[in-house]
Amino acid sequence: MNTATANATADVVRLTGVSRTYGGERNPVNALDDVSIGFRTGTFTAVMGPSGSGKTTLLQCAAGLDRPTAGSVLLDGQELTGLDEKQLTMLRRERIGFVFQAFNLLPALTVADNVALPLRLAGRKPEPGSVDQVLERVGLGSRKTHRPGELSGGQQQRVAIARALITKPAVIFGDEPTGALDTRTALEILRLLRESVHQGGQTAIVVTHDPVAASHADRVVFLADGKVVDELYGASADAIAERMTHLGAWGDQTVASREGAR
Ligand code: ADP
Repeated sequence: MNTATANATADVVRLTGVSRTYGGERNPVNALDDVSIGFRTGTFTAVMGPSGSGKTTLLQCAAGLDRPTAGSVLLDGQELTGLDEKQLTMLRRERIGFVFQAFNLLPALTVADNVALPLRLAGRKPEPGSVDQVLERVGLGSRKTHRPGELSGGQQQRVAIARALITKPAVIFGDEPTGALDTRTALEILRLLRESVHQGGQTAIVVTHDPVAASHADRVVFLADGKVVDELYGASADAIAERMTHLGAWGDQTVASREGAR
């Protein structure tokens, strides 16, 4: 196996030449513009960039929630291009976990039933003890019979993480998973995600605007105008914030020099 092939197989998610254009032919918006990037198994990546830079679109294309206009996406050995909606739904249920900013729990169900839901939707019965085990893991072993409304925001997000982990997915995608939480609770949630990645051999890809949150990741990928413009490994919150400022400055400068050239 040559090096390029070895690298490709170590990527649990791989986007190749992915573009996503919204709008009509007359005023197209290139939300993603020819993006090629891989995410290795067992790593935690934060995706950052200014508002509108394509972060959510990248996540949705990678997770099979949105279809690229061009390019291909490989997820856990499966090429997503060409799968029909039913196949994509199956793949998302079996191989992917999601954590969103709004916890998206079902208020009428108990904590345990919320966690077991993805398995039930897939027509599978939870293995005995598996729901308890994952709830213990997120520190909510004593809250099984509570309803989401009886829990704090941080606890609800821990339920959402337990729900994402129950199917033992290859990849956990997060869209601003700590956006609605205070700093201390956000740190707890990030530690939990990081633990799943480093102990459970899973992979996490998380969109965030918070440099402190991103500093918990192994790698930070920066987007601007639908392109990957930089990445940092093991960076401090200060270094990440600094890079973000320069992304902004770079954008402003470009505008300023354009204005100046008029
Ligand atoms: P981010 O997550 O970085 O804020 P998004 O991926 O949400 O960026 O959006 C990237 C660009 O694509 C933005 O200009 C946005 O307005 C546009 N966009 C996103 N979704 C749609 C949509 N459904 N229809 C039209 N334009 C969209």
